[in-house]
Amino acid sequence: MTAPRRALIATTALVGALTATMPVAAATSAPSAAPAAGRSVLPARAVPLRTAAVGGTGLHWLMRPGQRELVVDVVDRTGWAWPVRAASREWATAHVRYRYGPSCRPGMPCVVVREGWYGLTGWSGVTHATPGQMQTLTGTVQVQLNDSYRMSAGEHRAVACHELGHALGLDHDSRTSSCLQAQPHAIAPDGLDRAGLEAMYRLG
Ligand SMILES: [Zn+2]
Repeated sequence: MTAPRRALIATTALVGALTATMPVAAATSAPSAAPAAGRSVLPARAVPLRTAAVGGTGLHWLMRPGQRELVVDVVDRTGWAWPVRAASREWATAHVRYRYGPSCRPGMPCVVVREGWYGLTGWSGVTHATPGQMQTLTGTVQVQLNDSYRMSAGEHRAVACHELGHALGLDHDSRTSSCLQAQPHAIAPDGLDRAGLEAMYRLG
C-alpha cells in the first residue's frame, strides 16, 4: 500500500484518526464583506492548492463496476445555520445518494461536516481528504465550515454546496452559475456541475 502523503495543512482542528490530510481543492474564499471591524479578509487560496487533474481534483471515490449511483454517508455535525442537507439534496439530483447517520460505515464513502470558529482564516469552508492508491479517496473526507465570518443564508448555502462538491471530487469552476466557483454565489450546482459529476463517475 502506498503510504498516505504527508499533510499539507495542519489538522489540529480535526478530530479523529486522520494520519494525513490534504485539501481536495482550495478553500472556499471568505465573503468579500469585511467580517469584523478593521480586519480584512486574507487573500483567497490561503490554503495551498494541489494541482488539479483534468475533470476534477484528480481524486474520486472508488466505484464498483456497474455502479450507477454514488452512495455517500454524511455525518453532519453542524447546526441550523449550515444547510448541509439542503445542499446534499441538490447534489442528489446528480445520482448521489446521501445517507445521514451518526457515524461513518466502514469502507463506505463518508463525509464528516463540522462547523467551528476557525478564525479569520481567509476561507469560509475547506475540505480535507486522504488520497489512497490510484487517486482514490480513502477513509473520511472532512469538511470544515467557518463560523467566524458573518454570512447571509444564501452564502452559507453556497459554501455548503461548494464543499460538498469538493467532497465528491470536484474542482473549482470559473462559471458564476457554478457553486464550485472559488468564491461561490450560486446556491446550488448548475447543470454543468451535475453533468461533470455524472461524467466523472459514469452515473445514471
Ligand atoms: Zn473550493
